[in-house]
Parts: sequence; structure tokens; C-alpha cells
Amino acid sequence: MPFNVETFKNEPFTDFSIPENKSAFESAIKKIESELGKKYPLIINGEKIFTDETFKSLNPSKPSEVIGEFSIAQREHIEKTLEVAWKVFEEWKRIPAKERAAILLRAAYLLRKRKHEFSATMVLEVGKNWAEADADTAEAIDYLEFYAREAARYGEFQPLTPYRGEIPEYFYIPLGVGVIIPPWNFPLAITLGMTTASIVTGNCAILKPSSDAPLIAYKFVELMHEAGLPKGVLNFLTGPGSKVGDPLVAHPKTRFVAFTGSREVGCHIYELAAKVQPGQKWLKRVIAEMGGKDAIIIDESANLEDAVKWTLASAFGYQGQKCSACSRLIIHQNVYDKVLEMLVEETKKIEIGPARENYFMGPVINASAEKKILEYIEIGRNEGRLLTGGKKADIEEGFYIEPTIFADVDKNAKIAQEEIFGPVLSVIKAKDFDDAIRIANASVYGLTGSVFSMDRKNIIKAKEEFHVGNLYINRKCTGALVDVHPFGGFNMSGTDSKAGGRDYLLLFLQGKSVSERISF
Ligand code: NAD
Repeated sequence: MPFNVETFKNEPFTDFSIPENKSAFESAIKKIESELGKKYPLIINGEKIFTDETFKSLNPSKPSEVIGEFSIAQREHIEKTLEVAWKVFEEWKRIPAKERAAILLRAAYLLRKRKHEFSATMVLEVGKNWAEADADTAEAIDYLEFYAREAARYGEFQPLTPYRGEIPEYFYIPLGVGVIIPPWNFPLAITLGMTTASIVTGNCAILKPSSDAPLIAYKFVELMHEAGLPKGVLNFLTGPGSKVGDPLVAHPKTRFVAFTGSREVGCHIYELAAKVQPGQKWLKRVIAEMGGKDAIIIDESANLEDAVKWTLASAFGYQGQKCSACSRLIIHQNVYDKVLEMLVEETKKIEIGPARENYFMGPVINASAEKKILEYIEIGRNEGRLLTGGKKADIEEGFYIEPTIFADVDKNAKIAQEEIFGPVLSVIKAKDFDDAIRIANASVYGLTGSVFSMDRKNIIKAKEEFHVGNLYINRKCTGALVDVHPFGGFNMSGTDSKAGGRDYLLLFLQGKSVSERISF
């Protein structure tokens, strides 16, 4: 039976040069501002529960502004949620895949209608500029549309070789109850992507969002319920990773964990989940998408203006706070000085200010991120030649750091090896293209990379040897689109999954093989 819906298409981005779009977005920001500072509950089996212990989500552009106050889940809430989710699973897993998919399609429709409201929430809660927030929402819509179609495809009987005298069948069933732990940096797209992949395949989910982005996650959970998701399929528990995340991951009733975040936390979760607890009946599946130290190579044959433009977009877009952000720039020695000169000239034009006012660069996420990035900048002063930036931007309130570039960095330097997750670019000189590829691969990570070159031989070499999950030629290394660039990295960048690709839903399913003998 075909799933009669239109072919998947990526959601277009909003053109903010059109005055109506600009004023609609401004109104959406005002609406969110008028609702700031409220208290938010946990959601367990559809029930809203407020706890005494709470934490606050703050606006990084203006930390004196409280976005919302969120409940901290206690041990009893964790136990109750797991118990209830397993009960609900017994019903939910029997709902045909196409019916579950229909809920995602309905959610996509609702999200498209309220697009600016969701994007505006991210402008205020995580400091994205308008285009970055709009792209995050568009990606979220894409996940809903794409995973709905994918679930229907996985819901079919799968082809097998016929066997005389038997009717063999192969079909996919869900895993059970899983825990979803997203980061704050794509707080709608990644949160929604991992969660809806879990539930559209028939699992029940417990979402524990990042404490830096709980409001946008709360709005997403409400949207799913508005779209018709039965209560208890998706539950919402907020609180610190150590207090809420760890017990959920370690719990014997947890069947799988879908995590996106840092290498450090990802490795910790992987280890914790691997330990079989008393009473546990399975080995937990862990889908972990982790950090990056992504490189762009500029070859001597490259169009340098183009390469510099896209390098800056990759390095400093959303303040370098993307797992796909360029943090190492590897330049062929013959064009090294020229590229540095162009890079500095263009970087100096970048304007920084509050996300609300739509500057190219806004704040980094919080005080501890700011501190960590400034510490790396101090390390960089000894490991490279500071070309531009290197300090906090001169803005009264908020976590603003200037776009910073260090040249002449050694490939093994700390700032060329460790993920800084801020607007800091390390530039490394390469002797030739082979050397550039060697430098690019000299990392424990393997997430994204770009090559700027007009030399076909080098382009082919990069396709074969540059070991990253997402390689781009003559374009930026950020901005993956659902089902155009299935996304996820190698090595310490994660467990090799590809979000927004045709293999992704399989991670939330298990295949069952049945055969009935009919001639006896
Ligand atoms: P993080 O690892 O600090 O936190 C991620 C999530 O884990 C949060 O929800 C946090 O509350 C939770 N957590 C923290 N400690 C925990 C614990 N002990 N047990 C259980 N949960 C815990 O990462 P972040 O700062 O939110 O996000 C930035 C990181 O995410 C960067 O390293 C970035 O590269 C990575 N990232 C990767 C991808 C990808 O697709 N590979 C995408 C986006 C971000």
C-alpha cells in the first residue's frame, strides 16, 4: 500500500528582506517577550507536574532576562515516567506506522503555521540570529515530513526471497522506551529530530532537554500533543544532566538512549548505558552524535574570494557553536599569506550584538561557555599568532566574544585538536594538498569538512581520503539539509548514525523474521 503523500521537499527559508516577513518576525519576538518568566512543569503521561526545586533558563544576549523557570525532576518522577511509558508502549506499538506518521505530518502543518513563534523563541533563549533560528525551524519541519514518510516505508513488509511451502515475512518492530538527550545548539531541530524518530517508529520517549534550552523543547512537546499524539508517548523531564540524565540512562527499564552533545558527555553516557543493571533484559542501544573539530582546506587552485566567504560563514555563523562549524583552516602555502589578509579584512567587518536585533554574530550560550572560550583564547596566544579578535566584545551585558583567528598553528596544538565550540579559528599552513589532507585527518573527530579547489585530481583525492561523515566541495561545511546531506560523523564524532537520512529510523527499530510452513 503506497503512502499517498507528496514527495518530500525541503522547507524553504524565510526571506527577511521582504518587509511583511520582517514585521511578522518582529511581532513574533514581541509575543514571546510578553510571555517570558513563567513557570513550567514536567509532563508525565500528559499530566503537568510542578516541582519545588527549579532552575531558570536565561537569555544569553541579556542574561538578566529570565526566559522561564523550569521544574527539576526527582527520583520519583523518573520511576513513574518509565513505568507509565512502558504501559503506554503496549498500545502505541500497535498503532499502524501510517497512523503514527500522520501525527508527524499534522505537527509539520502546525509548526509551519507557527514558524516564527518557534524561531523567535530560539532567538531569545539561545541567541540565534533570525536566519539561524529560521533554518533551525525549517530543519525541524523537514524531520517531521521526512521521518513520517520513512516510517511508512519501514512499516511495509520488507522484500524477501520466496521459499516453496512457506510464507516468510520480515518486518520491523520498535525497541520500547527510550531517553532522548539533546544539546542546546539546535534546540528545536535536533530535539525534535531524535524524539520524533523514536516515536514515529512506535517507541515511547522521555525527553530530557538541555537546561540551556528547555522552553523551545516544552513548546515542541505541546505541539506534538496538539497534533494528536496520545498522552504518555512523549514525556518531558527537565533538570541537570547529572541528576536527571544519568539515572534515566542507567535505569534498567531504559531500552535505548538517543544523545547529541559533547564527546565528554557522550562517552560517559555510552559507558553508563553499557553496564547491565540488575533486572535488565537487554543491551541498551545508544545512538550518540558528538563533537567535531571540522576543517576547511583551501587549495592553491581555489577561488579565494569564495573560499574566504564560506570559511567565515562556517567558522563564525552562530558564533561557531555548531558541531559542523569550521574550527581549523588549512591553507596551501602558495596562497597562505593572501588568504590570511583577505580573511582578516572580512572578519573585521563582522558586527556583533543582541540576537533580537539580528546581528550576524550574537552571544555565546552562557557564562561557563564564555569562560571556557576565553581560556582557549589565552592558550592560543602561545600556540599561534593572533590575527584578529581575542577578547570579549565591548557590549555592556551578555556573553559576546569577538571572532578570533590564530595563524601559524601547529596541527597538534591544543587549539587545533580540542573542540572550543565558539568563534575561534585556528589556521594551519600545508606544504601541498597531500599534506593538507594529512593535517585534516589528524583529529580524533570526523564530522564535517570542506575543500575549496578547482583541481579535479585533488577533489577526487579528498572524496576518497578526507575521513569525515559529511564532506563538502567548494561550499561551506555547515548547513546540512535533511535527505540532501544525511548528517553524522565518524570516530569520536559519534556512533556513525546519519540524521535526516534513509538509514536513520532503523536505529530505533529491530527486525523480526517470521515464516509459516503451509504445506505439510
Ligand atoms: P553537552 O554534552 O554538554 O550536553 C548535551 C546534553 O547532555 C544536554 O541535554 C545535557 O543536559 C546532557 N547531559 C550533560 N551531562 C549529562 C550526564 N551526566 N548524563 C546525562 N545527560 C547529561 O553538550 P551541549 O553543550 O549541550 O552541546 C554542544 C555539543 O554538542 C558540542 O560538542 C557539539 O559538537 C555537539 N553537537 C553534536 C552534533 C552532531 O550531530 N554530532 C550536533 C549538535 C551538537
